[in-house]
Amino acid sequence: MTRAVIRHETWTLEPDREPDAEPTTYAMQCAVCGEFSEAALDFAEPQSWVAKHCGKNPSHHTFRGVITRPWRTWRHV
Ligand SMILES: [Zn+2]
Repeated sequence: MTRAVIRHETWTLEPDREPDAEPTTYAMQCAVCGEFSEAALDFAEPQSWVAKHCGKNPSHHTFRGVITRPWRTWRHV
C-alpha cells in the first residue's frame, strides 16, 4: 500500500523584481481593427505607432494601452 504524503504548501504570487525577470513592455492595440503595435521597452514607440496608424486609418480613433509585467510565484515550505 502506498501512502501519499500531503504537505501543506502556500504559494505567493508577486511582481517579478529579480535581476533576470522579463522586462515590462508597452504596446498599443487599435480598438477598431484590433491591430497591435510591437511591444517596446518604453511607451514612445507604441505612441508613434498610433500616430502612423491614425494617419493610415483616419476613422480609427480609439486604442488600448497594453502593459505586460513579469510576475513570479514562489512556495513557502
Ligand atoms: Zn485600426
